[in-house]
Amino acid sequence: MQTLIRSLHHVTATVSDAQEDLDFYAKALGMRLVKKTVNFDNHNVYHFYYGDEQGTPNTLMTTFPYKGWGVPVGVQGAGQITVTAFSVPESSLDGWRSRLHRAAIAVRDVGERFGEEVIAIDDPSGLVIELVGSRRDERTPWVSHGVPQDAAVRGLYGVTMSIREPARTLQVLTDVLDYEVVNEEESRTRLAVSGDLPGHIIDVLHTPDASQAENGLGTVHHVAMAVDNDEEQLRMRDELIKVGLMVTEVRDRCYFKSIYFREPGGVLYEVATLPPGFTVDEELPNLGQGLKLPPWEEPHRAEIETGLASVTY
Ligand code: ZN
Repeated sequence: MQTLIRSLHHVTATVSDAQEDLDFYAKALGMRLVKKTVNFDNHNVYHFYYGDEQGTPNTLMTTFPYKGWGVPVGVQGAGQITVTAFSVPESSLDGWRSRLHRAAIAVRDVGERFGEEVIAIDDPSGLVIELVGSRRDERTPWVSHGVPQDAAVRGLYGVTMSIREPARTLQVLTDVLDYEVVNEEESRTRLAVSGDLPGHIIDVLHTPDASQAENGLGTVHHVAMAVDNDEEQLRMRDELIKVGLMVTEVRDRCYFKSIYFREPGGVLYEVATLPPGFTVDEELPNLGQGLKLPPWEEPHRAEIETGLASVTY
């Protein structure tokens, strides 16, 4: 089968406070808020998309700030994406340590992993975020909030999935999604698709004794992988169904179309199209500035705007 997955597309997390989330991803990490919209299943909750200038798939982190809606704090554990990693230039890690220290964000030195230095921080909701110092990332970063060009986040580096019994998880990644194992150490297996550059990487961590993950505040909800277009998404869907996975119908997310399925280790995967992207309802220079609603929510705009906390960024 031809490789259909191009790279990661985005990571989506359930987080707590909207303003704290913006302060962390936009102000501290310097990512661009490329879309401010609402959760399509609960229009009283924001949906923030952070990425590069255009919100290119494989640079995207998206969050649902659910504070105040009775959602319990989640449990990080097996059957979940437990780490989201962003790519920064190798030479920038000392600068990041200083910047994060000034922002009162505690930095943990993870050390070298597969020849690259890694530091870890917690986002305001407790999500584990890594910054990986890479020599191989040619993506042009969004530059803002005083992060220098030569340090700015290039996009997603990859994600780490914690899995109790990884055999079938690995099998779906390699046999169906066409990932290849590109590195291994101890309990970590690194896979990549369509090349092994940052933005294409998934690490499967064998964690036989980890407690079972539970969704809630401070947990990653799903990871999405990118396909070129609607047609390839349907081909991917057929392949997944053929091996017995339960896949949703195609859902229109306005900025891409999506299908979802749970892989054998319990992690929710999404396969999302590259087009149409974030300029479908806002001009490139203005991305993230307005509250954008899907067409079916526009009649409720006044009520929605009243219900959402005002935020600055
Ligand atoms: Zn998603």
